Amino acid sequence: MKWRFTVPVNDAMKKVVIASGNKGKLREIGTILSDLDCEIIPQSKLGIASVAETGATFADNAMIKARHAAAESGLPAIADDSGLVVDALDGRPGINSARYAGTGASDDDNIDKLLAELRDVPREERGAHFHCAAVWVSPDDSVRPLVAEGRWCGRILAERRGRGGFGYDPVFFDPNLGRSAAEMSDEEKNRQSHRGKAFQQLGEQLHSVLKR
Ligand code: IMP
Repeated sequence: MKWRFTVPVNDAMKKVVIASGNKGKLREIGTILSDLDCEIIPQSKLGIASVAETGATFADNAMIKARHAAAESGLPAIADDSGLVVDALDGRPGINSARYAGTGASDDDNIDKLLAELRDVPREERGAHFHCAAVWVSPDDSVRPLVAEGRWCGRILAERRGRGGFGYDPVFFDPNLGRSAAEMSDEEKNRQSHRGKAFQQLGEQLHSVLKR
C-alpha cells in the first residue's frame, strides 16, 4: 500500500465523522477538536451502527471503529478506544472497560463490580491509569492513518466522589489535583486526561497532514 502523507483540504476533507455513540466522549472530543476548523459529525447522525471491537489493543479497536465509519460514510473518520487499567487487577478492565460487568452494563454496574473486586486492596496498591488511543483515517485509506495515545495516572477510591464526567470518573482520583475526575469541569479534565492528551497530539498531526 502506497500512502500519501499530506492531503489538500477540499470540502470532503473538512468534514470528519466521529465513530462513537458515547455522549460523554462526544462532548469531550468536540471540545478538544474545536479549533480544527472541521465539521464534526457523530456517526449516529449518518445512521452508522457501531462495529464489534474485536482488537487486542486500544489502538487496534480505535482503528477498527474509524475504518468502519470511514467506509460507511465515505468521509474521513476519527475514533478513540479507551479504558481503565488497574494495577491490582493485572490491567483489567482494560479494553473491556465499557462492558466490565457484562454486555449492556451501566456505568454504575461497572463501578460496583470494580469496587467489590478492590474491597480488600489497601490504598497504596490501588494505582490505575486511563489509556486512550485516538486515530484518524482517510475515506479511501490513501493517506497514512494517524495514531496518538495518552495516559492519565491516579488511583481508585473506595467510594464514589463527584457528579460530573462519565464512566469510572467518580472513583478515579488524581493525586496531583486532589480530586476525583467527576469533581472536575470538562476543561480541567481535558487538560489532564488520557483523551485530552491523545486528541491534542492527534490534532497536531492532523494540522500537519491537512495542507491549506
Ligand atoms: P470505549 O467506548 O470502548 O472506548 O469504552 C470506553 C470505556 O472506558 C467507557 O465506557 C468507560 O467505562 C471507560 N472510560 C474511558 N474513558 C473514560 C473517562 O474519561 N472517564 C471514565 N471512564 C472512562
